[in-house]
Amino acid sequence: MFDTFIAPLRCPVCNGDAPEAELQTYLRGVSADGSALRVGDQLDAADLTTESPLDAGYAVVREPEVGGPIRLLDVWICPSCQAEPWAMVEIADGQLRAVTAVVLDRPTLLSAHFISETNAAILADSVRGDLEGADEDVAESVVEDVVDVLRRRLPG
Ligand SMILES: [Zn+2]
Repeated sequence: MFDTFIAPLRCPVCNGDAPEAELQTYLRGVSADGSALRVGDQLDAADLTTESPLDAGYAVVREPEVGGPIRLLDVWICPSCQAEPWAMVEIADGQLRAVTAVVLDRPTLLSAHFISETNAAILADSVRGDLEGADEDVAESVVEDVVDVLRRRLPG
């Protein structure tokens, strides 16, 4: 079971408006009950420890400060063009504060605390492929941390 963050987002690919864009999240773990979480909704503080995003399929970009806001990167599916653009989810004081469409460049990555591990891996594969052979001194293996790949390879 997963919950869904729902927010109005604009697709950066087709420029279409998605008034009810959805991002699946396993952030609430076993408490997930298919809830539609919207900006302003409260989240249980127990679900917002550093450990729980890791259990929920997110990789760490950098550790959030204790009691500070948590920003998560994940993809949504545009209902108009089926693209999978990125969005930033911000949670602060136990409340869903914002869901914002973003272009995932290096500054955006570094402003987040967590990123969807599956989608980060897909993106890491694509940016790694673009530059194949470009810097052979960087030994990369399939087990390499995908966040490190993105940190080095994303533009910006
Ligand atoms: Zn679109």
